[in-house]
Amino acid sequence: MSILVVGSVAFDSVETPHGKVAQCLGGAATYFALAASYFTPVRVIAVVGEDFTPQHEKVLTDRGVDTTGLEHAPGLSFHWRGSYLGNLNEAQTLGTDLNVFADFEPKIPAEYQDTEFLFLANIDPVLQARVRSQMPAVKMVCGDTMNYWIADHAANLAKVLPELDVLLINDGEAKMLAGESNLVRAAEKVLAMGPRTLVIKHGEYGATAFFSDRSFAGTTHLTVPFRAPALPLDEVVDPTGAGDSFAGGFYGYIASQPALTPEVFRKAMFYGGVMGSFTVERFGTERLQGLSRQQIDARFQLLRQISHLD
Ligand code: AMP
Repeated sequence: MSILVVGSVAFDSVETPHGKVAQCLGGAATYFALAASYFTPVRVIAVVGEDFTPQHEKVLTDRGVDTTGLEHAPGLSFHWRGSYLGNLNEAQTLGTDLNVFADFEPKIPAEYQDTEFLFLANIDPVLQARVRSQMPAVKMVCGDTMNYWIADHAANLAKVLPELDVLLINDGEAKMLAGESNLVRAAEKVLAMGPRTLVIKHGEYGATAFFSDRSFAGTTHLTVPFRAPALPLDEVVDPTGAGDSFAGGFYGYIASQPALTPEVFRKAMFYGGVMGSFTVERFGTERLQGLSRQQIDARFQLLRQISHLD
């Protein structure tokens, strides 16, 4: 089943303790699409500028990603500058240039209308809401956001949250959104804002899912939170995109399964961790471009092994 993702397709300039890269292909939708492409067909809605070349687009199409909805506009692509020098678990944003995203009017190609799974990746919540309203028939909607939008676009974000079956954010963002420093209380407050399920990512420490009484109609037994570990890695080169890759593995796996059962949900949390673990091993999208399903499943088994009690 296809997933449609709307979000940033961008150029990133990043510095980490391992070095720095300038203007490399990135963006939330890019990382998401590449990670999800190992599980299910992916379609993209985004805008790029004149600096985005056919070689950049080929990174997506080589993984079978459908770029019919990738609009090319005059001007420069979205550019994000970030640093992980202080903390490998959380990026410090040095600059965000929206460029062509500032006036983006998302248009859904006719051939995307039958999409069943929608992912509202990190982008202006106004654009997230616009795409959501143009896709009334989707079966499931998941979404992401970040401190940039939580801080200055809270009212717009509040309109998107009730549309989400699953909101995926990191722990700092959850605490910021809730105005609460305790993670469990922050989760309760965020769930009260509308998403039916909340997945909080903890960087190198894994991710926790919190459920509301509106989670997964028909399954009542997912009431206690579920924690999935992250794979301990001996080298983290560049954490950029780990969260979006988690989301791609998580949602890609769900879309590839016949139904969303509690078991599928829990395995999806593990596949999310697996895809995040690959991304951080190299700068940019490099590691996500040439994986095999076998490598992914081997890492899934490893994650299962390191966390199994019995
Ligand atoms: P993460 O998975 O959280 O590390 O997301 C990293 C990606 O988010 C980078 O490739 C950036 O291009 C993108 N990004 C950073 N800031 C924003 C923003 N304000 N809106 C949309 N995308 C962003």
